[in-house]
Amino acid sequence: MKTDIEIAQEAKMMHIADIGEKIGIEDEYLELYGNFKAKVSQKLWEKIKDRKDGKLILVTSINPTPAGEGKSTVTVGLGQALNKLKKKVAIALREPSLGPCMGIKGGAAGGGYSQVVPMEDINLHFTGDMHAIGSAHNLLSAMIDNHIHQGNELNIDVRRITWKRAIDMNDRALREIVVGLGGKANGYPRQDGFIITVASEIMAILCLATDFKDLKERLGKIIIGYDKDDNPVTAKDLKADGAMALLLKDAIKPNLVQTLENVPAFIHGGPFANIAHGCNSIIATRYGLKLADYLVTEAGFGADLGAEKFFDIKCRYGGLKPSAAVVVATIRALKMHGGLKKDELKNESIDALEKGIENLGKQIENVQKYGIPVVVAINRFMSDTDREIQFVKRYCNDLGVEVALTEVWEKGGEGGIELAEKVIDACEKESDFKPIYELDASIEDKIRTIARKIYGADDVDFTKEAVKDLKNIEKLGLNHLPVCVAKTQYSLSDDPKLLGRPKGFNITVKNLNISAGAGFIVAMTGDILTMPGLPKTPAAEKMDIDEEGNIKGLF
Ligand code: ADP
Repeated sequence: MKTDIEIAQEAKMMHIADIGEKIGIEDEYLELYGNFKAKVSQKLWEKIKDRKDGKLILVTSINPTPAGEGKSTVTVGLGQALNKLKKKVAIALREPSLGPCMGIKGGAAGGGYSQVVPMEDINLHFTGDMHAIGSAHNLLSAMIDNHIHQGNELNIDVRRITWKRAIDMNDRALREIVVGLGGKANGYPRQDGFIITVASEIMAILCLATDFKDLKERLGKIIIGYDKDDNPVTAKDLKADGAMALLLKDAIKPNLVQTLENVPAFIHGGPFANIAHGCNSIIATRYGLKLADYLVTEAGFGADLGAEKFFDIKCRYGGLKPSAAVVVATIRALKMHGGLKKDELKNESIDALEKGIENLGKQIENVQKYGIPVVVAINRFMSDTDREIQFVKRYCNDLGVEVALTEVWEKGGEGGIELAEKVIDACEKESDFKPIYELDASIEDKIRTIARKIYGADDVDFTKEAVKDLKNIEKLGLNHLPVCVAKTQYSLSDDPKLLGRPKGFNITVKNLNISAGAGFIVAMTGDILTMPGLPKTPAAEKMDIDEEGNIKGLF
């Protein structure tokens, strides 16, 4: 089997104008970035906004393991399979971040014969959105320190500035830094730090904004810290919101590319799935729904984090009504949930599968709690045995849930026909979508509801600091916001070692952060890094480019 990049480099791409035409986007609405990438103009929205929405299909998964699940691969593959069945389809995915790309993960554009292209561009600088978001973020940082240097009219407490700086790289050395060293001319020294750009609140804002006006308002509401009288200081107080919006004038437009089988794909925005909600922009999703009959999209991590936030945050803000969800599972990952080590995964083990499959069972239940029909996709790996596949199929059949063996990695759309047919049927079923909590419940109750109903926890413990934060949120009148739980992705609990379907545990909320611009309260349940580091052997070491511009090692 060829590597992802070898397959991607052999792709027969169509001109992006022809891809646009497939879903009725005329040339005048495309802003071209070369021949194979384009931004879609906001003017198109006026023309399509009153159309009926297509079917919204969410691809989510079991709790991820180091064995890999292949959510993006299945998302792209399902889109290609629907296209093979002559459906008018589009895909919506997140933009990859350079940090993880150079670190462990490598590219993030699907895999095998189910990828989005041009893969190199998508994984590198793409259309510059990440740069624009980083610039808007750092403009605000610069304006904070400048404000203090110029006399600090807003009385900002330099010890309580929560807005850090941002860069799109994994660089642990920047986690904690001191700025303003070097004497009077360089400002006031204070402790600061960097986060990775995808963890910036601006990324979350870009993805949740419904239009440019909304984007600007949300930027203004960002709380950068507190003044000496304990009042929040916002980006608007610093008069930074206008210039920040200006820097995002192109970034807010969705990017259009294609899959290996020339299916239109929107790739736009890519927030973290722990301290943020982890899905592509509402704007791209809405465009896709107006332009195609089926829009296949993806949420980060497993269904406990990704799908929950997709439904409770994104769908709520975007007024979106999903028609069906696909839960991706691999035999390998299920065996890891059942206790096998990574180097034992090649061996058949029905025992391990029997234990690990509980994780799939819980994630199916979770999606069903939102009133949405579910189809399970078994993302087939070469090492899977027939007995193992039959076991998973029987498990799903016993639950009364549709299941399809999916070979889109190896065969492209052709390998996803069964899945596509089942998804089409699921979309015809009654979908009675409803978020899991009401916004008027207290923040504490919202967290309890998620922990009990979705994670299967007995209860939630709030540390002293968290109780203090809850009081502050109440004082600021922000109780009505949805909650975004930052939790390990590896377990349904807040302990990454508890695999499968843990029972009899509590979730501990250590503290709560306010993302007033994005419009959610982040409940921190562990040590969540907002600035990752590179591993001992970074993926970057294997990357290269020759004199003719041929790229190697980008997976
Ligand atoms: P996720 O979206 O869950 O992070 P991806 O779709 O990005 O996962 O896939 C992660 C990696 O696993 C990619 O390199 C992809 O090529 C590989 N992969 C996915 N599915 C398969 C499969 N069925 N067989 C082999 N490799 C696969």
